[in-house]
Amino acid sequence: MPFNTEKYNSLKKSIPSGITIIAVSKTKPIEDLQEAYKIGVRDFGENYVQELVDKHEKLPKDIRWHFIGHLQSNKVKFIAPFVELIHGVDSEKLLNEINKQGKKINRKINCLLQVYIAKEETKFGMDEEELQHVIAVLPELEFVNICGLMGMASFIDNEQIIKSEFTYLKDLYETINAKPQTTNHKQRTPNPKLHTLSMGMSADYKTAIDCGSNMIRIGSMLFGERNYNH
Ligand SMILES: *Cc1c(COP(=O)(O)O)cnc(C)c1O
Repeated sequence: MPFNTEKYNSLKKSIPSGITIIAVSKTKPIEDLQEAYKIGVRDFGENYVQELVDKHEKLPKDIRWHFIGHLQSNKVKFIAPFVELIHGVDSEKLLNEINKQGKKINRKINCLLQVYIAKEETKFGMDEEELQHVIAVLPELEFVNICGLMGMASFIDNEQIIKSEFTYLKDLYETINAKPQTTNHKQRTPNPKLHTLSMGMSADYKTAIDCGSNMIRIGSMLFGERNYNH
C-alpha cells in the first residue's frame, strides 16, 4: 500500500493544530515518501542511519528528517550535518558524541531525551535518575539543543496503562520546565526549556494527545503495514 493521503488529511483535521505529525517512513520506498511530499508532508521519521542517509540524498532538501530509532554513537557523524531532530537520546555517552560531532561542523543539534516509560520490558530509554543526571551535565555541552522528551508506551491493548505511562512522561516534562532557568557556575547555558513532547504512534496517538503530546510519530496508519519489523 502506498502513502494514504486520505488518512493523512483526516488525521490532520482530527487533531489540534499545534501537534506535529512525523510521517514514519522506515522500510518504505522513495516513491511512497514522494507521494507524501507532494501533498505537503515535510517531517519524516526513520530509524536506520543508512536508510536515512540514502533517503536524504535522494529527496528534496527542505524535508525535516527525524531520527527515531536507537542511535549508535559511531553513527552520529553520518546524520549530524542534516538531521532535524534526534528523538531517542538515551545516554550521556551518546549525548557527548552528538556534542562532539556538532562541534566539528559547528552545528547545534536538536535532541529529545528518551525516557523509559513502559511497564513491559523494552531495551531503550533512561529512567528518572539517569534523566536528571544527563540534564545536570547539559550545560557543558554547547552543541546539543535539548528540545524535549520522547517516550514509547507499552504495546498492549489497555488504555489505562498506556494513559498512566504517557501521563508519567508529561509530568516529568512539566517538572523539568518548572525548574528555574538558572545558569550554572560556568554561566553558559540555562536549564533546558522544553517545548517538544514526542509520544504517540498509530495505535495510541489519541491517548498520547489527551495526555499532552505535541508530536506524534505515525507509520503504519499512513504507509500501511511494514513488511519486516524494524
Ligand atoms: C516505527 C516507529 C513508530 C511508528 O509506528 P507505527 O505503529 O507504525 O505508527 C513510531 N515511533 C518509533 C520510535 C518507531 O520506531
